[in-house]
Amino acid sequence: MNQIYPKALVEITDTLCRLPGIGRRTAQRLALSLLEWSPEELRRFGEQLSVLLTKVVFCEVCGNLSDHSTCWICEAPERDRTAVCVVEHASQIAVIEACRSYNGVYHVLGGRLVPLEGKGPEDLRLEELSARLAGGTVHELILATSPDVEGEATAHYIASEFARPGLTISRIAAGVPVGADLSYADSATMAMAMGGRRPLEGGGRL
Ligand SMILES: [Zn+2]
Repeated sequence: MNQIYPKALVEITDTLCRLPGIGRRTAQRLALSLLEWSPEELRRFGEQLSVLLTKVVFCEVCGNLSDHSTCWICEAPERDRTAVCVVEHASQIAVIEACRSYNGVYHVLGGRLVPLEGKGPEDLRLEELSARLAGGTVHELILATSPDVEGEATAHYIASEFARPGLTISRIAAGVPVGADLSYADSATMAMAMGGRRPLEGGGRL
């Protein structure tokens, strides 16, 4: 079948379509606009894409996205290592950092419990969290998982698994809209949620 556009352009359009929020028409517009770039600009873009997976690594301590084996937050001497804020994804760290009301460190779970999709505790970075708590430095665990059913279930699971004397486990306050994706919460909402966190007692099991 004849295509309106050359095959290479259609292929790039198909790829761009896979990005979140990009529909077919936008993808096509983006692909066409790439043709207006200079060969040098296009070559640089191609290079940036090809090294993305080798240049961006996960922090060995917290799981954050990083340039090095340890992220800038874990390396910063002024951060309070007695508080660990547990998030589902690294993108949520940027949102909490933007609210400038938290000076502790983080732990990225790499998702949340979704029993219907077969995603259980062994799929989250819980062993790493357990190892961090074993050191005895951490006094507060702040559970900043999403305020929807799965996020709540994940928070309660962690609260029940990690409860121990000398460790306060708290949950970020309502203020983040229920069902909201924390990666996109605005910083004022996030600051309110962090400031109004409350202790989570015991927690139920799944
Ligand atoms: Zn880190």
